[in-house]
Amino acid sequence: RIADVDGQINAFLHVNTEEALAVAAEVDAARAAGGAAAEELHALAGVPIAVKDLIVTIGQPTTAGSKILEGWHSPYDATVIKKLRAAKMPILGKTNLDEFAMGSSTEHSAYGPTRNPWDLDRIPGGSGGGSAAAVAAFEAPLALGTDTGGSIRQPGAVTGTVGVKPTYGAVSRYGAIAMASSLDQIGPVSRTVLDSALLQEVIGGHDPFDSTSLTDPFDNLAAAARVGNVAGMKIGIIKELHGEGYQAGVENRFNESLQLLKDAGADIVEVSCPNLKYALGAYYLIMPSEASSNLAKFDGVRYGLRALPQDGPMTIERVMGATRAAGFGDEVKRRIILGTYALSAGYYDAYYGSAQKVRTLIQRDFDAAFSNADVLISPTAPTTAFKLGEKANDPLAMYLNDVATIPANMAGIPGLSLPGGLADEDGLPVGVQLLAPARQDARLYRVGAVLE
Ligand code: GLN
Repeated sequence: RIADVDGQINAFLHVNTEEALAVAAEVDAARAAGGAAAEELHALAGVPIAVKDLIVTIGQPTTAGSKILEGWHSPYDATVIKKLRAAKMPILGKTNLDEFAMGSSTEHSAYGPTRNPWDLDRIPGGSGGGSAAAVAAFEAPLALGTDTGGSIRQPGAVTGTVGVKPTYGAVSRYGAIAMASSLDQIGPVSRTVLDSALLQEVIGGHDPFDSTSLTDPFDNLAAAARVGNVAGMKIGIIKELHGEGYQAGVENRFNESLQLLKDAGADIVEVSCPNLKYALGAYYLIMPSEASSNLAKFDGVRYGLRALPQDGPMTIERVMGATRAAGFGDEVKRRIILGTYALSAGYYDAYYGSAQKVRTLIQRDFDAAFSNADVLISPTAPTTAFKLGEKANDPLAMYLNDVATIPANMAGIPGLSLPGGLADEDGLPVGVQLLAPARQDARLYRVGAVLE
């Protein structure tokens, strides 16, 4: 399937056929032999998975969608990759993304855009457009993404797939190249809610290599997806995250989902999170600030590309400058400049400090909302997939697409996007987002299963 369609879609940056087939053969042999070894195989053993190319893997290149890491191979596996290998899941390859996960369309990849399988002239979302498109185009049944401000959920929404950002700390970030460490989280991409639940159980769990990883077991996720019952649950519509600014077809499918939940016995209430209107602004200070610090390690010495100055002395500063000028794309440079400015002496309190305060206000808004509702609901993105090129040169328009997904990262709470049907006006997939309190990921799977 990859050989047939990926020439058009460009979901994969690297395909790992030989190793994937070898693992699949191993699982087949174990199943055929039967006995204890076969019994011990995980439910997902033998099910191939595609991995966002921000997650480091032994034996395959990791580029982060950037020229600066072209040809670089990691000397170690990310914790999630170790867990996939332990579950005997064949790793199909590495998927395309916006450079260093900065973007909402996968157009900022240094390796060309990924196209939406529903309409090749449209974006597959971002930054994890490759993972979502691979699953939507039946190139892979499962994929891994990373979500800092929506990069799993928004691609899920615009490609008609399921995408989950687990509770911050539920899945180890060790080996996910850091974008904004206080917001980043690895999570599943799949075609069904149960598949994502099974995958989160495989990749989750405490990891001593990630000091922010939680010790909670999170072992009740697939069971919750199998129950799929909302009778007596309170589901809160977030007043600020629908209506004005949302495409009519998105609103219609969203309202239909509410009706489905009502019919299944849920109590629908309205909640207000007044500080969400500041989330986008605060995110675009915190995220670039942390990214500017995290990306300082790409200095032309330790990893990947080394570009030399055209003339003049070969000092470390000048080699670093030439490398970063040649290796980073425009969006990455834009955010490094924004981040270093926001962190600079004299501005730190006014920008980064204020943004952190807004973050606390958002957390309090969610705490209050969850005292009135078990799960919150909103559209995942304000529109269906936009056209390639439509927002590529308008960073602000691109940022606005994240308005509904960013709040969950700011508060550390889990979010799940699932297909809500097709918009009337353009026939493209619409995403519905569910949010739960931190550590209550199981609720997302339980409610999500009712909406499938
Ligand atoms: N689109 C958002 C951004 O550009 C989210 C990115 C992400 O989640 N990695 O920052």
